[in-house]
Amino acid sequence: MGAHSRKCDWCGSGTPIVRDMEPLNSAFQYWCVECARALIIKGDPIETYRELEGEPIYGRLLDEHCTLKRFYSFVAA
Ligand SMILES: [Zn+2]
Repeated sequence: MGAHSRKCDWCGSGTPIVRDMEPLNSAFQYWCVECARALIIKGDPIETYRELEGEPIYGRLLDEHCTLKRFYSFVAA
C-alpha cells in the first residue's frame, strides 16, 4: 500500500505530495499540494516532512514563501 493509494488527510480528495513525519495530530499526516500550501501561508508549515513524489514539491512551496522560511530559520536559531 503506497502513498499513491492515499488521499490527503485534510481535504480527503487531493493526492498527497508530502507526509508530516512528526504530526501534532496523527490523523493528519498526508497533505496534498493545496493543503500543504495553505499550511505554509497560515504560518504553520510542516517542519519534519518527507516528499512523496521523488521531487521537492513541498520544498519548492517553502521556497515560494521564502520570507516565512527565513523567519522560521531565525526563530529556530
Ligand atoms: Zn488536501
